[in-house]
Amino acid sequence: MQAALHRVAVLGATGSIGASALDVIARHPDRFRASVLSAHRQVEALVELCVRHRPEIAVIGDASLLDELARGLREARLTTLALAGAPALEQVASSDACDSVLAAIVGAAGLPSTLAAARAGKRLLLANKESIVVAGALLMQAVRSSGAELIPVDSEHSALFQCLPQPAVRDSLDPRVRRLVLTASGGPFRGQCRQRLLDVTPEQACAHPKWSMGRKISVDSATLMNKGLEVIEARWLFGAEPAQIEVVVHPQSIVHSLVEYADGSLLAQLGPPDMRTALACALAWPDRVTAGVGSLDLLALGRLDFEAPDTQAFPCLALAYEALRHGSGATTVLNAANEVAVSGFLQGRLGFLGIPMLIDHCLQSLAGEPVPELESLLALDASTRRLAETSMDSIAERLRA
Ligand code: NAD
Ligand code: MG
Repeated sequence: MQAALHRVAVLGATGSIGASALDVIARHPDRFRASVLSAHRQVEALVELCVRHRPEIAVIGDASLLDELARGLREARLTTLALAGAPALEQVASSDACDSVLAAIVGAAGLPSTLAAARAGKRLLLANKESIVVAGALLMQAVRSSGAELIPVDSEHSALFQCLPQPAVRDSLDPRVRRLVLTASGGPFRGQCRQRLLDVTPEQACAHPKWSMGRKISVDSATLMNKGLEVIEARWLFGAEPAQIEVVVHPQSIVHSLVEYADGSLLAQLGPPDMRTALACALAWPDRVTAGVGSLDLLALGRLDFEAPDTQAFPCLALAYEALRHGSGATTVLNAANEVAVSGFLQGRLGFLGIPMLIDHCLQSLAGEPVPELESLLALDASTRRLAETSMDSIAERLRA
């Protein structure tokens, strides 16, 4: 039987995940259609994608660029409807224009549209891990009460999702499962001591040895905060306790994660480090479709290595575990402080080792009680950003001294 045509809203279409998703979607025109595309400020790139994928709606996040987008679409002789601004992202994520929403915006900026898709009962393909770190309990509650289907796109969580008994997304870890093992590549600075990390540049941090990704997640991979965010993501997706989630460094990035069962069995998902596999899996689940990814040559690979993460040189992973144990407000603070710190590092205002220092400072000052409501989480996100901004220069100074 022919599967129904699936209309997908690709939010964050001009990014790395967006490009990989559109590549997979374009391989299956009889099955998927990119019906909504969005970008933050890249009007020209968005119009180009519209020419190629002919969506019904294009959304530019920056509201001041609406006229420019509408003009670009007109000049390209497209009938695509132009919308703009953050409310438009929420509106399209919950509208009839799509069946599935791929949440591929970077940062907490993706939270409102992710939450809107969950509340509207969409099939939610989640790449935007920051939204689940900021508001995990609320997002999972929205998924539960609307009956939305949540399918992880992050490669580790896609691996766990594929290896867990279904339904994998649940409140508490399946009792037959003993632990989840998340693999980490270790990033470009694996094996380096703290001293050597003092002067690393944004270019070095973004040169990931195995994955090609946006700049923010590339820096997160270099600090190991990416793995910290993923531990929190695994906690909410699969209902695992922090003690049931372990991280091992696996430099080849071939084993994407493992599930250990009570009887000692470990199930792993392996594949070349290419996000199109996880995206194709999420788009077609429980079916399987081609993703343009070739076969893994196990003989050429020869070996798979595993080692413990170095929490001395890379304290961000421990900070994330600490925030997770502390509760919902703390993970919101962790995420907001990290976003400001990474942006400061990319702008040359803060050294690499200043990133965990700034996050730690914000956690010490602001992480209090668990925060149950969206409004208070957003207020905490905003006050953390203000504190991180005002503390950045003194932390940068302390690091140089
Ligand atoms: P990217 O920087 O390449 O792309 C981000 C996209 O979001 C762009 O389309 C950009 O225009 C849009 N965007 C940015 N800020 C916005 C805002 N304020 N409002 C609206 N749109 C905005 O990022 P990426 O590497 O594609 O990552 C996207 C998300 O997926 C992140 O949460 C990341 O952690 C997650 N993820 C990425 C990968 C990867 O391989 N790149 C793997 C796993 C998870
Ligand atoms: Mg990942």
